[in-house]
Amino acid sequence: MTLQDNYNSVNNEIKMACERSGRNTDDIVLIAVSKTKPVEMLQQIYDCGCRDFGENKVQELIDKYDRLPKDIRWHMIGHLQTNKVKYLVDKVYMIHSVDSYKLANEISKEAVKKGVTVKVLLEVNVAEEESKFGITSKETLSFYNEVSVLPNIEVCGLMTIAPYVENCEENRQYFVKLHQLNIDIASQKKDNDYRKLLSMGMTGDYQVAIEEGATHVRVGTGIFGTRNYAI
Ligand SMILES: *Cc1c(COP(=O)(O)O)cnc(C)c1O
Repeated sequence: MTLQDNYNSVNNEIKMACERSGRNTDDIVLIAVSKTKPVEMLQQIYDCGCRDFGENKVQELIDKYDRLPKDIRWHMIGHLQTNKVKYLVDKVYMIHSVDSYKLANEISKEAVKKGVTVKVLLEVNVAEEESKFGITSKETLSFYNEVSVLPNIEVCGLMTIAPYVENCEENRQYFVKLHQLNIDIASQKKDNDYRKLLSMGMTGDYQVAIEEGATHVRVGTGIFGTRNYAI
């Protein structure tokens, strides 16, 4: 299988999941998660038409940003330290991993300084796994209210990293829950500008996530193959 075959087959799975759930493929963004992979591989996927790439390290994202076409939308999907925010705000398309007020406040401050508005998602640890970052489901509404009033930040939706499971059906409950939290936020808002984005689903479970309302799926292994962290 070439990278192009992988990419096409993921897109085909997305199309089928949309058909099963009565959704429109135009409403799903496939983010190619390219962490640890060389720019040559990203360029191949770019040449297939992909414009959304996901990285989890600031330095790696910036290096790739510098070396690849400027119409790429870069998604920061990994845990972000406040001291690295300044390198990122004017390069990243969306930050998926806002999990503390301190981080949100720093993004806001740097965004004001650079005169940009940064799109963010709030990371929710819906499965309440000890090892994962993210706020709890219970905190989500009040956290949204705190962050959404900060200047130069646009809270567009929610993100979760579901547990690693053998059977993707086990994660359906978490996707349902994140979807519900998004509806809760939207229904308490007086204005209607909340975009209700849902970043959920990875190689093992993106079809299920789409059936439950994902607008952004983050697929790494399914496109680029397994990762070797040793290099
Ligand atoms: C690495 C990563 C992914 C992609 O994982 P795969 O299982 O390889 O598809 C998705 N989301 C986040 C936050 C990641 O760190």
